[in-house]
Amino acid sequence: MSNLPVPEHSEPLPPRTLLDVTLESKKCGVIGGGIAGTLITAVVQEAALSHGVDVQTHWAFDSKENTASTRAGAYHAPFNTSDPRMGEWATKSWSMLDLYERMGVGHLINEAKTLYLSNLTPMPLPQGLPGAVVEMNPADLGFGANYVNAALVERGRVFSPPALMPALHSSLAQNQNILVDSQRHFRDIEDIVAWARKRDLQAVFVAAGASSGTLLGHERIVGSLGVLVHVPMAPELGLHNDIVVMDEDHDETLSYTIPAPALGTIGVGGTVHRTFDLPYSPGAEYTDDFKYFNEWVAYEAQQEAKLIRARVGARFPLMREALASSKLKVTHGLRPHAAEVILRVLPPQATGGVFVAEIGGLGGSGITIAPALALEALGLPCPIEAEEAVAEAAGE
Ligand SMILES: Cc1cc2nc3c(=O)[nH]c(=O)nc-3n(C[C@H](O)[C@H](O)[C@H](O)COP(=O)(O)OP(=O)(O)OC[C@H]3O[C@@H](n4cnc5c(N)ncnc54)[C@H](O)[C@@H]3O)c2cc1C
Repeated sequence: MSNLPVPEHSEPLPPRTLLDVTLESKKCGVIGGGIAGTLITAVVQEAALSHGVDVQTHWAFDSKENTASTRAGAYHAPFNTSDPRMGEWATKSWSMLDLYERMGVGHLINEAKTLYLSNLTPMPLPQGLPGAVVEMNPADLGFGANYVNAALVERGRVFSPPALMPALHSSLAQNQNILVDSQRHFRDIEDIVAWARKRDLQAVFVAAGASSGTLLGHERIVGSLGVLVHVPMAPELGLHNDIVVMDEDHDETLSYTIPAPALGTIGVGGTVHRTFDLPYSPGAEYTDDFKYFNEWVAYEAQQEAKLIRARVGARFPLMREALASSKLKVTHGLRPHAAEVILRVLPPQATGGVFVAEIGGLGGSGITIAPALALEALGLPCPIEAEEAVAEAAGE
C-alpha cells in the first residue's frame, strides 16, 4: 500500500471550454466578418490543426465591406478606453504577428513609430505600448505652437485595414474546412440557435460589432462614430507619411494621422463622442427606417469630417494645406463601444443548450486587441458544465 498522503479534497476538474466542445464535436459557428470574427475563425482552425483534428467552421455574416474593421485607421495601441484588461490584450496581440504571417498577410502590416503630443504634464500615455518611450521637444518637430510635450514610442504597427481585411477573408476562403456564408443576416438569438441546430453546432462565437446588442437583445453596446479623411502620401507631409501622430490631450475630440502604407494614404481622424443606440447591422433588411438611419449617420460623418479637417489642420501644420483640398475621400464606421469589452457565454437556458459566446464592445481598439481576444474566446468555460464539474468534485 502506498504511504503517499491522500488529499482531503480532490481538486475540481477544470471546466470544459468552448475550444474543447469545438474539438470534440469537430464543428463550430462564427458570426461576424469583422476583425474579431475573422481572427476567431483563424485561431479555431489553427487549434484544430495543432490537435490533429479536422474542424468544420460555419462562418456567417451579413457584410464584409461595411464593417468598422474595414473603415479603421488603424494603429496598434489601446486608446479611449477604461477597460483595465486592454494593456494585457494589446501586449499579447503584439506578440501574435506570426498569426497574420501564417495567413499570408504579414506584408500588409507595417512597423511605424508613434508620436504622442500633449499640453498635459505628466503626459498621459496608453497602457501596453510595445516600445520604449523617448521624450522629445514638440518645437523640434514643428509642433511647438500647439503643444508643450511630445513622446516618441519607438516601436509600433499600422494595419491598412481596407487592404488587410479582404486579404484575411481571401486567405480563410481557401481553407476547405471553413464554410463561408457572406450574406447571412441574423435577426435575433432564436435565429442563431435555429441556424446552429440545423448544422448540429454546439458552440457559436458571435462577434457582431456595433450591432451585437441589437442582435442579442441588450443595450450595453452603442455605435460610436469614427470618421477618416484620406490624404494621399506626399513628401511635403514629412513625418506623417511614416509615423502615427496622436494628440493625447483631447480624448473626446481625438486628432490623429495614421499612415496606411498598403494604400499610399494617411488616415486623418478622429471623432467627438457621437454615438448611436441599437444600430442596424450593415446587412440588415433595407427598410425605410434603415435607409433613414444610414443617411443620418452619413450626414453626421460629413459634419464630423469638416471638424476633423479644421482641427487637425490647425494642430498639425504639415497637414494644413493637404486637408484644405476638396478632393479627399471620407469614410466612416461605427465602432462597437461599451463600458468594457464583452467576453462571455450567454446563459444556456437562453440558447437552448447551445453554447453561444459574445465577443463585443472592442471600441476604438479592436484591431489592437483582436488576436488576444480570439484566443480568450476559445478558452471561455462552458457554464453548465463548469457547475457540474464543481459539484462532482465536491461529491454532490
Ligand atoms: C475611423 C476608425 C478608426 C479606428 N482606428 C482604430 C485604431 O487605430 N486601432 C484599433 O485597434 N482600432 C481602431 N478602430 C476600431 C476597430 O475598427 C473596431 O474596434 C473593430 O473593427 C471592431 O471589430 P468587430 O469585428 O468587433 O466589428 P465589425 O468590424 O463591425 O464587424 C462586425 C461583423 O458582424 C456582422 N454582423 C453584425 N450584425 C449581424 C447580424 N445581425 N447578422 C449577421 N452578421 C452581422 C457584420 O456584417 C460584420 O461582418 C477604428 C475604427 C474606426 C471606425
